[in-house]
Amino acid sequence: MVSCDKSSVAPASLVTEKAKGSNGNYRGSDVIEQLKSDFHDKCYICELEGLQDPQIEHLIPHKGNIDLKFDWGNLFWSCGHCNSIKNNKIYEGKIINCCQEDPEQHIACRYADNDVQIEALDQSEVSLMTASLIYNVFNLKNTGMRTNNSAVRLKALQEEMNIFFNELHRYKDNKSPANTRRVVARLRKSTAFAAFKRSYIRNNSDYAELQAYVAL
Ligand SMILES: [Zn+2]
Repeated sequence: MVSCDKSSVAPASLVTEKAKGSNGNYRGSDVIEQLKSDFHDKCYICELEGLQDPQIEHLIPHKGNIDLKFDWGNLFWSCGHCNSIKNNKIYEGKIINCCQEDPEQHIACRYADNDVQIEALDQSEVSLMTASLIYNVFNLKNTGMRTNNSAVRLKALQEEMNIFFNELHRYKDNKSPANTRRVVARLRKSTAFAAFKRSYIRNNSDYAELQAYVAL
């Protein structure tokens, strides 16, 4: 999970739909387009990009609360897999708001030995529960579908990390402007699994000159 600069102005349909009360629909095309753009079409929890089944996720479950249901600040872009895992009482109100604070200051997402290691960097309940959620979306296998969907995300992460490591090796051999640009491009927060790549650089003294691109 990385921070997201969500547009400050709420899509217009949220106001008109909220006025309809319980019959209102928060899934207007303007809401979908803005979320997709703001979140770079990437699930804010697992960081898989190019979602085939995107969902509008309420950071704080609305449970029929009209204010929470239509609050632009409460709407996030996620995949169905992460949305369903997050939909658990243990996570209610305990997930970092990546549009308001920087998750990288609270959580380290690491990729090692073909697996994920998610560490809370402080002992706050929000950091611990967010770390637990991110770990689970790559590992939970309590239903057949979740076994499949967790594996799909782990495989996509492995593929992205392999590409990233290859580019890093090329860069290490020859720090040409082109090789530098390629590595730096993969460190942007808008890219798939950015938290894992950025954490790798942040914790690797071999790449001191790249620290500026992953600074907190
Ligand atoms: Zn996801």
